[in-house]
This record gives sequence, C-alpha cells and structure tokens, in this order.
Amino acid sequence: MTAASTRRIVIAGGGTAGWMAAAALANALGDAIDLTLVESDAIGTIGVGESTIPPIALFNRLLGINEAEFMRATQATFKLGIKFDNWKEVGSTYFHSFGATGKDHWTAGFQHFWLHGLTQGHKHSYDDYCLELKAALDGKFAHLPNDRMNYAYQLDSALYAAFLRRRAEGEGTKRVEGRIVSVELDGESGNIAALVLDRDRRIEGDLFIDCTGFRALLIEGALHAGFDDWTHWLPCDSAIALQTASVRPPVPYTRAIAHDSGWQWRIPLQHRQGNGIVYCSRYLTEDAALERLLGSVEGEVLTPPNRIRYTTGVRRRQWHRNCVAVGLSGGFMEPLESTSIHLIQRAVLRLIRMLPGGSISPRDVAEFNEQQFTDMEQIRDFLILHYTVTERRDSPFWRHCAALPRPDTLDQKIELFRETGRVFRKNEELFAENSWVQVMMGQGIVPQTYHPIATKLRAEELDGLLTMLRDGVAKTVAGLPGHQDYIARYCGTA
Ligand code: FAD
Repeated sequence: MTAASTRRIVIAGGGTAGWMAAAALANALGDAIDLTLVESDAIGTIGVGESTIPPIALFNRLLGINEAEFMRATQATFKLGIKFDNWKEVGSTYFHSFGATGKDHWTAGFQHFWLHGLTQGHKHSYDDYCLELKAALDGKFAHLPNDRMNYAYQLDSALYAAFLRRRAEGEGTKRVEGRIVSVELDGESGNIAALVLDRDRRIEGDLFIDCTGFRALLIEGALHAGFDDWTHWLPCDSAIALQTASVRPPVPYTRAIAHDSGWQWRIPLQHRQGNGIVYCSRYLTEDAALERLLGSVEGEVLTPPNRIRYTTGVRRRQWHRNCVAVGLSGGFMEPLESTSIHLIQRAVLRLIRMLPGGSISPRDVAEFNEQQFTDMEQIRDFLILHYTVTERRDSPFWRHCAALPRPDTLDQKIELFRETGRVFRKNEELFAENSWVQVMMGQGIVPQTYHPIATKLRAEELDGLLTMLRDGVAKTVAGLPGHQDYIARYCGTA
C-alpha cells in the first residue's frame, strides 16, 4: 500500500466553480488534504449563471447547508422549470418542468396512456397532469411532504460563490489573492509543479484544479488538453447579460424566449431580475442584440451590459496529468437548460469520489474523463433537440438550425419517440424520460403509436385514472401559497 501523495490540492480561480470545488473538498476531506485557492479580484469572474437544476439541492445538503440561510444569502427564488416561448413556432409555448407527469406504469410512461386518451376523446393537455408545471404557471410554491415538489433555485451566483467561500475558509481552505502569471511544469513527468504568481510567489501542489474560466490557464494553456468544438451543432456563440430591478413578484420559473437569431432569458431573483440574450453572431450583430435586449427588459437597468463571446464545446481531456478542469475551463454549452453549474457539481463530486490515495492512476483519469464526457454529450443532445426539431423557418438562423446534422445518439432518441412514444434514460442521464417527453412534444413531435398496455384499460378505467390524476394536481395547486409569500415566510424576511 502506498502513502497518500496528493495531499496538496491547489484550486486556480475563485468563481462559482472554484468555490464550489473548495467548499465541497474542504467539507468532505477536512484535514486529510491541504487546500489552497488562488484568485484575482482584479480579473474577476464571468458574472453570470443564475438558473440551476434540482441536483444542486443535493450538493447543498451534502455540504450541510441550511436551505433558508442559503436562500437569504444568495437572494434565491425557487425554480420549478423553464417556460419556452417561440421555439416550435412563433407564438408557441411549452414548459419543461422538473416534475413527473401523471403516473408511469413499469411497462410504459404516462404519455402512452395520455396518447390513448386522446384517441378516446379526452381533451386535456399533457401539462394538466404535472404538479410542478401547474404550480409554476400559477406562481405558487411550497415544500410538500415526501419531496413531492421537485425544484431548484434561481440565485445570484456571485453571492453563492461568496457564501461558499465563507464556508470553505471556515473549514480550512487557504485563499491567496494574486494573479497567476505562469504555470511551472515538472521537466520529467510533465505534471504541473507549481503556479507562479505576481510578486514572485509560487504555489506548489500535487493536484491542480483549473477553475480559471474560459481562460483555461492550466488545462489548456499549460497542458494543451485539446478542445472539441461543437459549434456545428449549437451555432450560437455570443451573449449579453444585464440585471434589472424587479417589476413584479418573482415567478418560480426561468423563461427562454426564442428570437430570430437565438433566444433570451429572464431569471427572477428576490431582489432583481437577470436578463440576457444568446445569439449567433453570423446572423445578428452585437449592437442589434443589445438593442433587442434593452428593448425587451422591463425594470430599471441596474448593470452595464456584460458582453460574452464563447465557443461551444468541451475540453477533450477534462482530467489530464495532475490537473482537472472544473467549470468553464472544461467547456461550455449555452445556458438553455441551466446545466453549467450542474456540470461543476458533477465534476467536483466525481473528483472527490476518485481522489487518488497514492499516485494518480491513469485508470481513474480515464474513468473520470469518460463519465464527464458522457454527461456532456447527453446535455449537448438535449440542447440540440430544441433547435433541430422546430417548425420555424422564418429567419436565416432558424433555416440554418433546421438543416443542421444531428448526432446519431440524438437522432435515435427523436425517431424512436416519434415512432413509438418511448424514451429511455441511459447511463445515469441527467434528464429523465419526462424531460425528453415534455420538450419533444413541446417542439412539435407527436408519437405515431403508443404502447398497447394503454388499451388494456377499459374506457371507464382510463377515464377514472385521468380524472383522478388531473384532479389531484389541481387540488394540490389550489392549496399552495404564492411563491413570493412562501419565500418571505421561509426565509424569515416577511
Ligand atoms: P469564472 O467565473 O470566469 O471564474 C474564473 C476565476 O478564475 C475567477 O476567479 C478569476 O479571477 C480567476 N482567474 C482567471 N485568470 C486568472 C489568473 N491569471 N490569475 C488568478 N486568477 C485567475 N450556468 C448555469 O448553471 N445556469 C445559468 O443560468 C447560466 N447562465 C450563463 C449565461 C452565460 C451567458 C454564460 C457565459 C454562462 C452561464 N452559465 C450558467 C455558466 C456559469 O456562469 C459558469 O458555469 C459558472 O459561473 C462558473 O464559472 P467559472 O467559475 O468556471 O469561471
């Protein structure tokens, strides 16, 4: 047995990624590691990233975070899903909720029973069977027994990083303020030996976590891990973000509103609203994008526009030598399904599970890279779905999207659903069957057939089942408090 040789862990960068990594490592490993984080106030962070998905609640729980305290500290609201406008066609709307819809049978998802119901004269929308969706659109929220309401948060990511920083420092993380000017490699192994900072400082480590954002100073700048460009699948390459004052109580959902060359987001927090436009620079200039964004925001503009250029894609090796990329240094996909902070969480928890006991095992590295890549490919496919299955042909951008090739993995998923109504969740995929069903139907796919089990129910049984499920949702939603009131009471700010 060899003694642990990865005691000294150095995190480069203190954005959301850096502080999530530090807080989780410090909490899980304590004195078993020696943890240092280097960040530069002068360089700052990307300053966006406000909408999350449900697994973040697990991350917080693992760290022993009190939810109300976290929500107060980050000005968070609850999030039950995303409302998509203008994606299937201009004027269309659908909702991707975090909940389940109806009740699945082990042989077949609820959509099969609902589809059979349609042929039997039932008129109710698929949406009427989803608690989270109906609560969201009614502006309601509460914690329900047995975690019956599945939710995430809309939060101020700078405040989240600051909140995690306090915890990480409280649990022994050393923070070094300074600019990394170079990365020193070990001549023999090719590993990173040390970060060289301004004022001739040097920080040695056994394992380095690159959280330097798009700069990717360690994983790419020093180790040249390589980058897979996915722009040919997801052509948007630019964003502008700005914050505005709230003009109404926050709704418990994020909005993604498509426009002729991309889409816009609206993310309501307790104290303000996050707004942004994502666009393809081939079809829309920066000036026109800014004008469109400013023309559509509702409250007083509180911040200067934050203009961001990016290349969609992933670092070819997420873990290379003694360096692991976490956050934007590992790649970026547009925030359409709010998945970036989740990928940080996955990488950090995965790394903790695979933390070397002795020297770094190439098998751990290969396993980590494969698992990360699978996550990223699955998210990529889900994002492409929103662009590739659309009836929009009203602009050069949408005509371009409709003609884009699809990854085979996505093509199989779409065509299987179209032919049979079936969706399968593989390899611990982030998005459950219901997410795929909601988005595929929302984008306009109607399955040609459904599972024969649905026809086994007699007409009155089917009627009874659908009515019972629908009434159950409606009754629960009717009894829920308003989202704003609930937050005020829960956070003690009422
Ligand atoms: P950054 O925030 O860029 O942090 C990099 C850190 O490295 C900083 O501390 C910086 O000071 C430091 N650094 C860099 N160079 C040096 C140096 N030379 N010396 C010392 N320190 C250095 N994610 C979501 O989950 N939901 C969303 O709704 C969402 N919306 C987004 C919208 C847009 C337009 C974009 C671009 C991203 C969005 N994201 C979203 C992604 C999210 O913002 C990031 O995943 C998250 O903020 C993590 O960023 P990061 O910590 O990797 O990088």
